[in-house]
Amino acid sequence: MRIAVIGGGPGGLYFSYLWKKRHPDAQIELFEQNPAGATWGFGVVFSEQALEFLRADDPDTVDAIAPRMESWKNMTLNLRGESVEIDGGASPRSAGSNC
Ligand SMILES: Cc1cc2nc3c(=O)[nH]c(=O)nc-3n(C[C@H](O)[C@H](O)[C@H](O)COP(=O)(O)OP(=O)(O)OC[C@H]3O[C@@H](n4cnc5c(N)ncnc54)[C@H](O)[C@@H]3O)c2cc1C
Repeated sequence: MRIAVIGGGPGGLYFSYLWKKRHPDAQIELFEQNPAGATWGFGVVFSEQALEFLRADDPDTVDAIAPRMESWKNMTLNLRGESVEIDGGASPRSAGSNC
């Protein structure tokens, strides 16, 4: 089977990975319009709980991405000169982000 995936964002990359893992004979071509590694300053954030959900289904992926993730406890929302600190408690972790 030949599959063309348009877009190398998290959705396209993870779909391609999962499909190839389950169907090793499949031929997948992924097309991305932007240069490799471009994130434009944003990424994907996982709470600790979301990471645990992912680990239950796909521990290999969590083991591969977790060492490269950033984590923090609080976030500060700056709007019109005011700052509000949001106590995440969930320890968000970000992958592929330059935030
Ligand atoms: C400014 C901003 C900040 C964000 N910050 C966060 C955050 O802090 N935390 C968080 O969890 N999420 C954040 N997000 C959301 C997160 O980035 C998206 O949920 C995630 O990227 C969606 O993944 P995706 O694969 O569905 O789509 P995308 O990441 O949009 O991937 C689609 C890809 O397809 C490519 N593409 C489109 N058309 C074509 C074509 N014709 N040919 C070739 N390639 C094509 C695009 O270049 C893109 O790389 C942010 C989004 C933005 C815009």
